[in-house]
Amino acid sequence: MELSLYDTQSRSEKIVTSKNSEVITIYCCGPTVYRDAHIGNLRTFLLTDLVVRALHVLGKKTLVVQNITDVGHMTDDFEEDKLLAQGKSESRSARDVARDYEGRFHRDLAHLNISPADHYPRASESIDLMFAHIQRLIDLGHAYVGADNTVYFSAKSFPTYGAISGNTLEKLKPGHRYDYVDDGAKQFHADWALWKSSPNRNEMVWNSPWGTGFPGWHIECSAMSLKFLEGHVDLHIGGIDLRFPHHENERAQSNPIVNGEAVSQWLHGEHLLFEGRKMSKSAGNVVLVSHLLDKGLDPLALRFCFLENRYRSQMDLSWESITAAHQTLAKWRLLAASTQPTARDSIQAVNQEVREIVNEIVSAFCDDLDTPRAMQILRSAVKSSLADNLKSSLLHAIEPLFGLALTRAIDVKEPSSEILQLLEERRAARAAKDFNLSDALRKRLDELGITIHDGPEGQRWEWKI
Ligand code: AMP
Ligand code: ZN
Repeated sequence: MELSLYDTQSRSEKIVTSKNSEVITIYCCGPTVYRDAHIGNLRTFLLTDLVVRALHVLGKKTLVVQNITDVGHMTDDFEEDKLLAQGKSESRSARDVARDYEGRFHRDLAHLNISPADHYPRASESIDLMFAHIQRLIDLGHAYVGADNTVYFSAKSFPTYGAISGNTLEKLKPGHRYDYVDDGAKQFHADWALWKSSPNRNEMVWNSPWGTGFPGWHIECSAMSLKFLEGHVDLHIGGIDLRFPHHENERAQSNPIVNGEAVSQWLHGEHLLFEGRKMSKSAGNVVLVSHLLDKGLDPLALRFCFLENRYRSQMDLSWESITAAHQTLAKWRLLAASTQPTARDSIQAVNQEVREIVNEIVSAFCDDLDTPRAMQILRSAVKSSLADNLKSSLLHAIEPLFGLALTRAIDVKEPSSEILQLLEERRAARAAKDFNLSDALRKRLDELGITIHDGPEGQRWEWKI
């Protein structure tokens, strides 16, 4: 079996293969670390994990890179860097903001059982790499220094611009807002900044061969993907909104360097809606992993919900569906733990009947990640007349693919005296309205495996599942 995925550029399904070696190189656009990732962002990050798990089950090797954008991503009005704006609003440095949210991003990934990438290069630490890339584009005639000392990519120098998104240069009208405001410094309205001159900024700026400034948002992904994946990306992943201009620009910046297609396949995940609306601050429906934890819901219930929807469809999520998934997960874990499986932890389960079901599930994954079908097959098997030990065997066998921690032991141990004391201290701190102390105690208890829920009836705790 092979993994076949829809490629946005050729608008057709393609088998995922490696161009240069036996290792499949994958690049996934990472978070801009000025805030917590919301669960929509996490749906896109999960897409990489599902691809990697499917490839590993098929016996393939992967090399995965995900960048950390900690400089250069401008606010929607193109006025200010998102990190600097957030630093101002939190009265701390942009660097502190970035490191803090980067750590939280990794914790969120762990909550969703998303396997870590092999490298997480930071934009702010890859500036030299970007200098070299930009200089090469200038030398090749694809970039120029504008009247404002900003270095621009010359869109007209790249004839196949628009191949991914359909936004060809003929279709892009002047005034279309997809990059910094056109102030007459660039030669053509669709050109974009590779290096933004910024003599007056004093944070998050670097001295470059073209003066003081900071990198444009798109250049980091070209520079890092080619560096860390040794000149070719077999599969490039991101959310659908990145198709244009981000990926279109990235392709234009990367292809001239490798003198060919730098990316074999572009995979885009559709957006997540929450309770019928696009998730946004203004709509007031941004959901974070911490919100699930506060409600006592297993974050893997989210993973469960995502698996029930195809990555290529917009998906609408609600608290109701997350709660239902939480309950089903608990039932499946009990089932997995209730009997002795015949083949633990192996996708190649020994029993013929189980093996056939596993094969059907793997083939659903291989069919452009048809995870809803895979989940349906699993649900039917769990409801079927199959013997309980075989059901348990099946749940163990598919775990490497689904990553739902179905084989996690149900913990029934008693709390230690330290935990009991910390719980009592936290109860007292809350009664005294000392919320700093109560938050610190919550953190300490979390490290000891205890999740706390505060409600009108007071504090309630449970073991983390
Ligand atoms: P950002 O941190 O804003 O740069 O976004 C990180 C990733 O999340 C990108 O691949 C986006 O395309 C993706 N993304 C943003 N909003 C959503 C959403 N509502 N649903 C799914 N993916 C999203
Ligand atoms: Zn990117």
